[in-house]
Amino acid sequence: MGCDGGTIPKRHELVKAPKKVEKVDKNAELAAQWKYCALSQEKLRRPIVACELGRLFNKDAIIEYLLDKTAERPNTQTVAHIRGIKDIKELNLTDNPEWEGERRNTKGDRYEDFNCGMFICPVVGLEMNGKHRFCYLQTCGCVFSDRALKEIKTDICHKCGDAFKNEDVVVLNGTKEEVEKLREKMEERRTKAKTKVR
Ligand SMILES: [Zn+2]
Repeated sequence: MGCDGGTIPKRHELVKAPKKVEKVDKNAELAAQWKYCALSQEKLRRPIVACELGRLFNKDAIIEYLLDKTAERPNTQTVAHIRGIKDIKELNLTDNPEWEGERRNTKGDRYEDFNCGMFICPVVGLEMNGKHRFCYLQTCGCVFSDRALKEIKTDICHKCGDAFKNEDVVVLNGTKEEVEKLREKMEERRTKAKTKVR
């Protein structure tokens, strides 16, 4: 028995392996939210828009949906709250100079690719790759890291100079709780808008 000991996997190896895989999958899933349209699941490409709940979409996909809402397509629950073009905002994103686009994929390392974001925060340079919180301003559509917005208190957009209020800041791909809060705010706004018209 003693001689074969080396070939038997040690217990800690058996226990640890599945955990690691799970973590990578979860990271990949989180990173994917920042790379793919939440409706069409195609790669995000400009013009990119965000909804009031902070999800990212290709503008074409949303327009196609709005032109024919009855067409059969997957993921329609992610856009059910979008009534028209006014409910989305085109984002003003800052390109990541490190982004190599598709070239990196051909080298094969998929997981490495997930760490590189297409866009960065124009103030502090953080990559928009799912590891950092990012927000957009509903007033002008400019996108910043949460860190920049917290560290530099301002009511004028860092990128375009437009004035904004705290309530115009929407977190992108937020947690379930954050999305719930955004939904409440959205419904409140819509009720108010309705009563104004009357
Ligand atoms: Zn701006």
